[in-house]
Amino acid sequence: MEQIQYDVVVVGTGAAGLFTALSFPPHVRILMITKDAVENSDSYLAQGGICVLRSPNDFEPYFEDTMRAGHYENDQNAVKIMIESSPQIIDDLIGFGVQFERDEHGELRYTREGAHSNYRILYHEDRTGKEITSVLIKEALSRPNITVKDYTTMIDFLESDNVCYGIALEDKTGTQKAVVAKSVVLATGGIGGLFKHSTNFPHITGDSFSLAIKHHVQLENLHYIQIHPTTLYSKKKGRRFLISESVRGEGAILLNENHQRFIDELKPRDVVASAIRHEMDKFRTDHVYLTLPSMTKEEAKHRFPNIYEQCLEEGYDLTTDLVPVTPSQHYLMGGIKASVNGETSMNRLYAVGETACNGVHGANRLASNSLLESLVFAKRTAHMIAASLSNIPITCPIALPKSYPKEPMRTQENKTLIETELKRKDPIFYEKWCHFSSES
Ligand SMILES: Cc1cc2nc3c(=O)[nH]c(=O)nc-3n(C[C@H](O)[C@H](O)[C@H](O)COP(=O)(O)OP(=O)(O)OC[C@H]3O[C@@H](n4cnc5c(N)ncnc54)[C@H](O)[C@@H]3O)c2cc1C
Repeated sequence: MEQIQYDVVVVGTGAAGLFTALSFPPHVRILMITKDAVENSDSYLAQGGICVLRSPNDFEPYFEDTMRAGHYENDQNAVKIMIESSPQIIDDLIGFGVQFERDEHGELRYTREGAHSNYRILYHEDRTGKEITSVLIKEALSRPNITVKDYTTMIDFLESDNVCYGIALEDKTGTQKAVVAKSVVLATGGIGGLFKHSTNFPHITGDSFSLAIKHHVQLENLHYIQIHPTTLYSKKKGRRFLISESVRGEGAILLNENHQRFIDELKPRDVVASAIRHEMDKFRTDHVYLTLPSMTKEEAKHRFPNIYEQCLEEGYDLTTDLVPVTPSQHYLMGGIKASVNGETSMNRLYAVGETACNGVHGANRLASNSLLESLVFAKRTAHMIAASLSNIPITCPIALPKSYPKEPMRTQENKTLIETELKRKDPIFYEKWCHFSSES
């Protein structure tokens, strides 16, 4: 098998992978790979926004909102780091050229989503993820020390005695190669692609987790999966379109089959999803309804252009019609156990973003904390790795196999490993929410 060498391999071109790569000094040679087109990450799909600590007075309420949403299972140190780092991260983004919504005086505008006690979310229309990710992709592609390869899949860790010496990949021509590196950063997102109903891209199938299981890298709470309460109900196959909390934050209400309200729409996601499930079971339907009577068409088109348009394409005017919505898999709070500097239980292997579980979200993520978390801990991880690189030689003492299995065997094996782990961790949750796609 052909061998290539880099200082660092970053797997994934979502917000976490991009910000990791961009946070290294310019002499570090980095290979970034992604399974699909560079922009096809869940980060790109983020609608609602990104949280920030607006003033020191909001520290306590923000901390409390994050802890309450996480059922107080959060790692308090990780939450503190995330909140305290947020103003610098937003400054970094603005420095790269990210545009957030501003008022007529040029001051940043803030919105609010479910379970937030304050307006502390920065946004760009309802396409915040696209705005942030596009700017970071452009920056990464312009840096001479960063090589980005699309349609290239990580298929194994090069591991011996709990040290990671790089990865095996399959490129867009189907050629399998070994990439020997001083450090590997996993930024492969979550597991939504395995589910029948998910807001995630279908190619985001938790590959890091099945490799972690095979190589005995420690996982944490892989069954802590967030179900998003309001995705546009459709009989079509593929990714479910998300109707962000910010729509409920701006006054949208939920109605059951009898057109009655049944929940405070601004409760945390897990509470709202369970209430919807209850109504669906009660009326034996597969959806409830969402509507936004508090806005005019023009206001909705301006505030939520993407969501308004998608609903219209399915035949619904969000401000006057009852839009059918149903809960779908959305986000993974668990993952590869990681420190607040991205370290995993394997030497020289790091995890960031949705792939990592450093405890910041506890049992349930507060809306709009994940883009922020991805960026905060990505930057810390890059700094941690950069400090150690000069002491590590680029070598690989492993006898590499001639080749690895091809698709669809790989994904099938991946799916079985993850399904078994989810069933083992929480059989009740598995039965209730984990309906896997038959296609992956
Ligand atoms: C519809 C939607 C709306 C959201 N809205 C918000 C929001 O408003 N605010 C917020 O904070 N968060 C939001 N989120 C969550 C947030 O976008 C993500 O959780 C976060 O951006 C995760 O970023 P990431 O970089 O860890 O992973 P991702 O952005 O998912 O990127 C994963 C990357 O890994 C690559 N990859 C996967 N497997 C492999 C492999 N084997 N080999 C090579 N590459 C691989 C993928 O191709 C992709 O590039 C939303 C998520 C969705 C799906």
